[in-house]
Amino acid sequence: MTTINTARRAFFRGRAVGIAHHVPWAVAAFEDACQRCDACIQACEEAILVAGDGGFPTVDFRRGGCTFCAACVDACRHAAFDRERTSPWSITVAIADGCLSARGIACRSCADACEPRAIRFQLQTGGRAIPLLDASTCNGCGSCIATCPIHVIHVEEAA
Ligand code: SF4
Ligand code: SF4
Ligand code: SF4
Repeated sequence: MTTINTARRAFFRGRAVGIAHHVPWAVAAFEDACQRCDACIQACEEAILVAGDGGFPTVDFRRGGCTFCAACVDACRHAAFDRERTSPWSITVAIADGCLSARGIACRSCADACEPRAIRFQLQTGGRAIPLLDASTCNGCGSCIATCPIHVIHVEEAA
């Protein structure tokens, strides 16, 4: 129970600054399996893995998005990953108030960064366009987060 609470606290603390706790394909008992050896951090081709709370590896989406290359999985010798999971993780993103485009200032940075094309824009009067997220298409890669010039995109737990 302590492990779950710690993970949830870390996850929600991370939401505010764009850091999701854990890594893709993490096993349920990640904090029991992980030995904090940093091998996955060293292996990450995008350099988005950092030592987070308690020294456990954590994705920092401020550094960029996950390409799901699975180099972290291959690097781990302690069974902290489960490549057989149907989905690497159950996270998505949310766009908070303040979006430039919604205020009539030209910006499509998040959509341009989104390979699955999960973000579209709903045109409004006055040159405004509201970004809309298709949560069923979003894979939680986080590539949109670092590209937003005003940092209004953050990680959320998928429904
Ligand atoms: S490689 Fe495995 S054991 Fe080492 S820090 Fe990463 S998840 Fe933990
Ligand atoms: S986190 Fe979702 S919306 Fe953002 S770039 Fe990745 S797939 Fe697109
Ligand atoms: S990158 Fe940020 S400001 Fe630009 S359209 Fe997307 S949410 Fe709005």
